[in-house]
Amino acid sequence: MTNQSISTQQEEAVVSIHGLRKSFEDLHVLNGIDLTVHKGENVVVLGRSGSGKSVLIKIIAGLLKPDLGTIAVLGEDIDQLDEEELKRLRLKIGFSFQSSALYDSMTVQENLEFPLIRNKPELSKQQVNEAIEQVLEDVGLLHTIYQMPDELSGGQKKRIGIARMLILNPEIILYDEPTGGLDPITCVEINHLINKVRQQYNTSSIIITHDMTCAKTTGDRVIMLSDGIFLKDGPFEEVFASTDERISAFYNYNF
Ligand code: ADP
Ligand code: MG
Repeated sequence: MTNQSISTQQEEAVVSIHGLRKSFEDLHVLNGIDLTVHKGENVVVLGRSGSGKSVLIKIIAGLLKPDLGTIAVLGEDIDQLDEEELKRLRLKIGFSFQSSALYDSMTVQENLEFPLIRNKPELSKQQVNEAIEQVLEDVGLLHTIYQMPDELSGGQKKRIGIARMLILNPEIILYDEPTGGLDPITCVEINHLINKVRQQYNTSSIIITHDMTCAKTTGDRVIMLSDGIFLKDGPFEEVFASTDERISAFYNYNF
């Protein structure tokens, strides 16, 4: 690869947001957000509960409509897409939900098979099985293939949730509180998995969290969301060297 093509690849924006605003009646949640995520980047958005983090990524995933602003995902302006086109684009976006959202009455294998045969009906039974085994191996849980979700630990459910998203080979992953509700050791494991996924699947990610270790371990850049705007955007150390008291309060509380 030439130097020029490397730099073009680095500069390619997979998410590009300008002037995003979103309110729910009198509640102004997002008050003018600009965000660019480049191909291959892992960007962390930090903020207190209720600051609008989930709303932001739901808008990026096309699950919520913005009031104002432009949102381009993988070069497509989501506001201009019809339902069919949006559905096609959503297949390239992996959404890792806060709750793992597994189907309780299905085995791990069935949980993974379901999105795959629904979205890629052209695959043979053997290809489906191979894809399931591969993705389970990647998240380190091949041995749970015939288990039910309620037989799994919280961390294992998170991993299966991530596997279910990976099985469709997303280009962008939106992680909503990936370490939420997990013990510290499991958090570290999930942070490592997020970094491994990025390497192995060549993804770009937005990681929503209020966990500083997660931010530090997984983010190339950290963005602080407060009062509906981005207060700061940069490498972890730089953001938390800020003298803004909303940022230092967040830091001191977490560490
Ligand atoms: P968090 O940063 O904790 O993820 P959210 O993005 O979920 O916060 O929510 C931001 C604010 O928007 C909260 O006050 C929440 O109650 C409100 N909100 C989120 N979704 C809706 C909705 N669909 N209807 C009304 N209010 C909502
Ligand atoms: Mg949330």
